[in-house]
Amino acid sequence: MHGYGGVEQLFFESCDSPSITEPDEVIVKLKAAALNHIDIWNRMGATGIVVALPHILGADGAGVVAETGANVANVKVGDPVCLYPPTGCGQCEFCLTERDFMCIRLRVLGERLEGTYAQYVKLPARNCFPIPAGYSFHEAAAFPLVFITLWRMVITNAALQPGETMLIIGIGGGVASATLQVAKQIGARVIVTSGSDAKLERAKSLGADHGINHQKENFVAAVRSLTDKRGVNVVLDCVGGEVWRKSLASLARGGRLVTCGATAGGQPQDDITAIVTKQLKIYGSTLGSRREFSQLISFLNVTKNKPIIDRVFPLSEAASAQRYVEAAQQFGKVVLEIPE
Ligand SMILES: [Zn+2]
Repeated sequence: MHGYGGVEQLFFESCDSPSITEPDEVIVKLKAAALNHIDIWNRMGATGIVVALPHILGADGAGVVAETGANVANVKVGDPVCLYPPTGCGQCEFCLTERDFMCIRLRVLGERLEGTYAQYVKLPARNCFPIPAGYSFHEAAAFPLVFITLWRMVITNAALQPGETMLIIGIGGGVASATLQVAKQIGARVIVTSGSDAKLERAKSLGADHGINHQKENFVAAVRSLTDKRGVNVVLDCVGGEVWRKSLASLARGGRLVTCGATAGGQPQDDITAIVTKQLKIYGSTLGSRREFSQLISFLNVTKNKPIIDRVFPLSEAASAQRYVEAAQQFGKVVLEIPE
């Protein structure tokens, strides 16, 4: 990326390979990377984070360890690995209590660190994890960011229980489709919304119990009738904007709303009376801990859940891949194949 702005700022070109400067670092030869909305926000400069240019985007990747620093013991050259995207300073009160994803000097691959849209990436060895059993490199690149994000939101924070009803706003994106899989796997009833009947059908084939086309009907009323006028126990709303108030209105008493962003606007109108009288909880979350990432990998090994991959682009077409994600036509993850 040579500047902040549209996809015209992205170039497929050669640059120097990274080299190890700290004894706890590794270099991974990437086989695949995956796209996330954060890549687009970083490209647009919407995060407010300023990095040296040119800069390599990409928070998600998987590959093979190519080189290790002198103190590295958890991986060796040739190991296939998937990457845990955030890294902390190791010294603030959050890092000292195993919450370095909340570090005050947080660095995330593709954000303050050079990212995964590349043949090689450098990162701390402790960010390398074993690939879930039976996963291809494409799948291993597609799951980390969305699954760790939903795991912390839905499992740790909202503590979704078997038999509860969950509403997922805007099925189709990476976090939403992964949440559908995990919620069904733990035995929840799942209602999804979309403006696309094709996406609703796809969601049903993946286990969604009900689909609501929000272009054709009021989803608050539809949720009410599907839940015996009670509302749902948990809502995932990463859309925000006009939808936010409806998400709150869809919750049952004691309900929990989880969010990891707002693609339709971050300053929605709240209904404080409803939050108070219905005793609602709202959880904002981004990323998750190494402990949660490790628990997630164990869950994927047991359930054999795999991320849904919508489409694979070659690395050289990263700009087209981002344009495709911006158009929101996908169902699941968009992956970049990295050339040898
Ligand atoms: Zn820190």
